Amino acid sequence: SSVQEYLQSQIRTIPDWPHKGILFRDITTLFENPEAWRKTVDVMVQRYEKQAFDRIGALDARGFLLGSTLAYILNKPLILFRKKGKLPGKTISVEYDLEYGKAILEMHEDTILPGEKVLLMDDLIATGGTLLAADQLIQKAGASTLEAAAIINLPDLKGADRLNAAGIPTYALCNFE
Ligand code: IMP
Repeated sequence: SSVQEYLQSQIRTIPDWPHKGILFRDITTLFENPEAWRKTVDVMVQRYEKQAFDRIGALDARGFLLGSTLAYILNKPLILFRKKGKLPGKTISVEYDLEYGKAILEMHEDTILPGEKVLLMDDLIATGGTLLAADQLIQKAGASTLEAAAIINLPDLKGADRLNAAGIPTYALCNFE
């Protein structure tokens, strides 16, 4: 659609960062353009304002920006999924695979109630590993994921397919092949 093309045109691509051979999709240029950022938020608001869910779960760190904006507008509790060692309270954690090596994602153990539905938000879906880890923490709390939303999906890396296969619907504003 034209919205997708417009937003895509506002995202900068940086070759060979953080490693040689990677095309890094940089959304700082989207944040710098108020019209593009407003459009990003508006499309997400239109999608989720009529849906029933309990919390917005934002992924460390760029997912915090979209997640907190949506939580404010939709008047939902905001919960944080953070990299290891950042949350001060008692946490539950899950280990997941990165492109090189492993990482640990954490959530405060009392931040979700059993039976709740959480809308997850990050900036980008690559392999889907980060959002799958967040969904595992949600499941450990006896809750479930409504959908995993992102600004960008990289379809070649099959993250959305992996998430869908795990029973998690996905939504992204634009695809970069
Ligand atoms: P995944 O876990 O493989 O899906 O990777 C997604 C995570 O890595 C997200 O939290 C993104 O912020 C980050 N990421 C991976 N590739 C890019 C990129 O090209 N641009 C911005 N973030 C990226």
